[in-house]
Amino acid sequence: MANNIQLPHTCPHCHNVTAYTAQELQHLFGFRTNSQGHVISQSWCMKCRSGQ
Ligand SMILES: [Zn+2]
Repeated sequence: MANNIQLPHTCPHCHNVTAYTAQELQHLFGFRTNSQGHVISQSWCMKCRSGQ
């Protein structure tokens, strides 16, 4: 799986959420697909992106 974030990854906003595996990354941070069709990881956790 294409991924531009190194594990473990801690949310740079709250420093409270860390993903140690790609599975956790998907669950806690999620992925999105850019305009070129590449799958990239979200850097902020879902809580931070949803405005808490
Ligand atoms: Zn966060």
